[in-house]
Amino acid sequence: MRAPEVGGVRLPDGRGQTLRLAQGASLSDFADKIDVNPAQLVQALFNLGEMVTATQSVTPETLQLLGEEMGFKIQVVSPEDEDRELLESFDLSFGEDQGGEDDLERRPAVVTVMGHVDHGKTRLLDSIRQAKVGEGEAGGITQHIGAYQVTAPVDGTDRTITFIDTPGHEAFTAMRARGAKSTDIAIIVVAADDGVMPQTVEAINHAQAAEVPIVVAVNKIDKEGAQPDKIRGQMTEYGLVPEEYGGDTMFVDISAKQGLNIDSLLEAVVLTADAALDLRANPDMDAQGVAIEAHLDRGRGPVATVLIQRGTLRVGDSIVAGDAYGRVRRMVDEHGEDVSEATPSRPVQVIGLTSVCAAGDTLMVVEEDRTARQIADRRNARKRNALAARSRRRISLEDLDSHLKETSQLNLIIKGDNSGTVEALEEALLGIEIDDEVQLRVIDRGVGAVTETNVNLAAASDAVIIGFNVRAEGKATEMANREGVDIRYYSIIYQAIEEIESALKGMLKPIYEEKQLGQAEIRELFRSSKVGTIAGCMVLDGIMRRNAKARLIRDGNVVAEEMTVSSLRREKDDVTEVREGFECGLTVTYADIKIGDIIETYELVEKPRD
Ligand code: GDP
Repeated sequence: MRAPEVGGVRLPDGRGQTLRLAQGASLSDFADKIDVNPAQLVQALFNLGEMVTATQSVTPETLQLLGEEMGFKIQVVSPEDEDRELLESFDLSFGEDQGGEDDLERRPAVVTVMGHVDHGKTRLLDSIRQAKVGEGEAGGITQHIGAYQVTAPVDGTDRTITFIDTPGHEAFTAMRARGAKSTDIAIIVVAADDGVMPQTVEAINHAQAAEVPIVVAVNKIDKEGAQPDKIRGQMTEYGLVPEEYGGDTMFVDISAKQGLNIDSLLEAVVLTADAALDLRANPDMDAQGVAIEAHLDRGRGPVATVLIQRGTLRVGDSIVAGDAYGRVRRMVDEHGEDVSEATPSRPVQVIGLTSVCAAGDTLMVVEEDRTARQIADRRNARKRNALAARSRRRISLEDLDSHLKETSQLNLIIKGDNSGTVEALEEALLGIEIDDEVQLRVIDRGVGAVTETNVNLAAASDAVIIGFNVRAEGKATEMANREGVDIRYYSIIYQAIEEIESALKGMLKPIYEEKQLGQAEIRELFRSSKVGTIAGCMVLDGIMRRNAKARLIRDGNVVAEEMTVSSLRREKDDVTEVREGFECGLTVTYADIKIGDIIETYELVEKPRD
C-alpha cells in the first residue's frame, strides 16, 4: 500500500493501528510516537487549513483528524486515565481494589455544610464542635485542621461523624472539579427567617450534581419571624421533599446560636447515611485518601490535612500526594494531639511531605520511598506539560459539535439580573425543540454576577455559562480563561435562544444521503506489478471519479461495498473524471474483480436538517 498523503505531505501509513495520545498533546508529541519529523505534521496540518506550531497543544479533534488521515485510530487519553495508567505501571490503583466483602468495615460519614451567606454555616460548625467540648470530650477541638470528628448517640450506639470544617460549597466544588470525592452527605443550612436564597439553590445544585444526599438544617428558629414550614415548602420546589410530607429528605429545625437540636441534626445525618449509602472501607490496606487542605508551615514545613478514605495511615509510611511525596513524620489530630495511625474517614494533619500538595490531590501509601518519588516526579513533569494545554478552551459553543458527539448533552448555567428573566430564559431555552439525540440541561441558575463558584461548577460539569445582563465578578473571568470555561453574555433573550439553538443543531450528527454518480462495466483486466489489477472499463452512464466510493455488482448482486476508486486513467493520463461513453482504466480497493462486473460509483452528501 502506498503511504498516505496528507495535505500534500507524504506520511507513514497507520494501517488501522491504535495510537494513544495524551489530552493536550502537541504535534511534536504526535511526531515522536510515529517517528517522523514534527515539521512534516505542521506542514500537513497547515495544508489542511490549520496553523499550529510543533509544540503548541492541539485539540483532540485535530489529533483525531490528522491521525485518521494517516490511517491511525487515535485514542485521546484524559489526565485521569493517564494517572491511572501511571499508577498501574507501579502495580498500584487508587480507590479500586479494597479486597472482598469480609474486609470491609463501617466508616463514619463525611459531611460538608453548605448554604447561603449569613444563614449560619460557620456558627453551626462551631456549635457542633463546642457541643462536644461541653460533653467533656477529651481535650476539646482546639486545632483548626480543616476537618474534625464528633460522636453522637444514635439508637443507643455512639456514631462518629466527620465534618469538613470549611463552610460553603467553594471547597466542595473545587475538589470535585479536580475529580476528588470527599463528601458523603451535605447539610444545607437555610435560615428560617430568610428562606431559600440564591446560594441555597447553588448548594442544592452542587450536591445533586455530585449525587450526595442532603440533610436540611432549618436554622435560626429562635428568631422572631422564623417560618420553618415555609422553608419546607420552598425546598420541595427543588426536589427536597420532607419526610413528614412523604418525601425522603430529613429536615431538622435548629438554632446554631443556642445549640438547639444539634443532636437531632447529627442523628439525621447518621440515619440518612445509613439509609442512602453503604459507607464501608477496608482498614487493613495501604492507606489512600484525599488532601483537603495544605500549606507551608514555618516551623514544620509542608503540612497537609488528609482525609483517609480506605486503609490505615501510619507514622513512617512512604506517601505520595499529588506531585508531592515523602514519609509520614508526624500526624496531628484536631485536638492538637499526636496520633500514630489514622483509619478510614479520619482527618489528620500529615507532616513529612517534601512539598505542598494541592487540596483535592489524592494521597496514597506506597511500598518504597523510591516509588513515591518516581510517581511524584512523573506527575510533576506532566503538570508542566499540561500547563500550556490548560489555557486551551475547555468547551465553547463553537466546539460543542465535537464535544456533544460523545455526550449529546449541553450543560448550561444561567445567571441573570433578576429572577424573572432567569426563569424566562431557562423556560425558553428548555423549550427549544431539537432531536432526541441532544439534550439541554440547566444545571444551575441564579441572580447576580457570574462568580468563581459558577466557573468552578462549569469546569467540573463541562458547562457553558450564560450571563444575561450581568457580568463576571472578581477573579471569575480570569479563572474561566484559565479553566477554559465559555461564558456568553446576552442582553436580548431571543439572541441567546438563537445562538444556543444553532449550537444545538450543529451538535446533531449529520445525516448523509447517497447520490449515485455513475456506472461502468469491466471489459478487460490487466495485471500490473505496481498497482495490482487494473480494470479496463466502459462508462455506461454518469461519471467515474477518482477517490469516489464504489460498489461492485455481479449478475445483479452487490458483491462488494465501500470500495474506493483508487486510481483512474484515460489512455495514458491520470484523470479525475471520465464521462459516459468513454473508456477508462481504474483500480479499486477490492481484489476479486471479473470481466462483466459493474462498478457503481456514488458519493455521500450531507442532508440539511429542517
Ligand atoms: P455563614 O455566612 O453561613 O457562615 O453564617 P454565620 O455562621 O457567620 O452566621 C451569620 C450570622 O447569623 C451571625 O451573626 C450569627 O451569629 C447569626 N446566627 C447564626 N445562627 C443563628 C441562630 O441559630 N440564631 C440566631 N438568632 N442567629 C444566628
